[in-house]
Amino acid sequence: MSDKLMAVYNRAEITPVRGQGVWLYTASGEAYLDCVAGIATNGLGHAHPKLVAALTRQAKTLWHVSNLFPVEGQVTLADKLCAATFADVCFFTNSGSEAVECALKTARRFHAVAGDTQRIDVIGFAGSFHGRTYAAINAAGNPSYVEGFGPRLPGYVQLSVDDAEGIAQAVARPTTAAVIVEPVQGEGGARALTGEWLQTLRRLCDDNGVLLIYDEVQSGMGRTGRLFAHQWFDKAAPDIMTTAKALGGGFPVGACLATERAASGMTAGVHGSTFGGNPLAMAVANAAFDEISSPALMDSAWASANRLRAGLEEIARRYPDLVVDVRGKGLLIGVKLVTNNREFMAAARGHKLLVAGGGENCVRLLPPLTITAQEVDQALDRFDATCRGVRLAIAA
Ligand code: PMP
Repeated sequence: MSDKLMAVYNRAEITPVRGQGVWLYTASGEAYLDCVAGIATNGLGHAHPKLVAALTRQAKTLWHVSNLFPVEGQVTLADKLCAATFADVCFFTNSGSEAVECALKTARRFHAVAGDTQRIDVIGFAGSFHGRTYAAINAAGNPSYVEGFGPRLPGYVQLSVDDAEGIAQAVARPTTAAVIVEPVQGEGGARALTGEWLQTLRRLCDDNGVLLIYDEVQSGMGRTGRLFAHQWFDKAAPDIMTTAKALGGGFPVGACLATERAASGMTAGVHGSTFGGNPLAMAVANAAFDEISSPALMDSAWASANRLRAGLEEIARRYPDLVVDVRGKGLLIGVKLVTNNREFMAAARGHKLLVAGGGENCVRLLPPLTITAQEVDQALDRFDATCRGVRLAIAA
């Protein structure tokens, strides 16, 4: 890699130059089965014809106007997102972190304009990931992401998802503004929270006048077999929610969704963005939304998810020396390993399979939602071959 780039990424040794569907190609034409998909971003695979058409059409018409002017694509996408969720209003961003930033500001403003100025604390959970802005790293509290960046921001509290009593006490405090949680922890290693857990948290927030924020940047836009992961459960809807990643299928875009009540503090001039909701992003995101929200795609993604999950569980039974657990939801699957996950990812690349890392020594499989049964079987064959190779290497 170039020494002119900040050295913040551990990059793999291969350079993809082209993508088609679930496949990534290097300059020499080697094909890799992509179960990373931009970490759940290329939800419709690479070079999806409808997204290419939407982007090309928009590129010939209008690239950018300031949010000082109405942007038509924002209106249509907000209508779609609100019709499909609990939300009444949307704010468009360029990334997941910015959507989280907007969610946290929305929550604090809600209390401020209601005169509850003491309510500033945000409760987050160990193992979470909300992005890399100051607010996002403080909300998640992962020590390795906050260390060296000056003092922790005040007003952020971390708890364990297993600490029911601590959660109840913290939500009841008069200084608590909001709780932020991923219904399925992505970077933490594909840990899905149960419906009962989310419903209990929802009730606690209601009883105490606290806003509930879901971070569905990774788990949303069809990844778990529903448009948003929390929609698997009744009586668990949030007040505020973030989405990004697959929202634009690879074009940078995010959104913060909220009920009208929760967004009551977000009045003219209190927040904004130059690029957020830009016409190019809106054109692609509208096309991606129409595709992802089609029942046919959701059904086939769910069938592929079950096939992949069953195959991985079968592999886990055959390699108890390597695999401890298969977990997650839909096509957000975590395989918890005994052996080092980084080494396993490199070994998988040797078998032309791309998988992502994750917390608790997991590898994650997050293929495009468009993956076919045949491609799932190819992924399983390559995963199996990787396990066989890693086992032999350990024995040698
Ligand atoms: N929240 C979650 C749950 C995420 O998985 C991520 C990205 N991995 C983010 C927020 C941050 O998104 P971005 O990198 O687009 O800022």
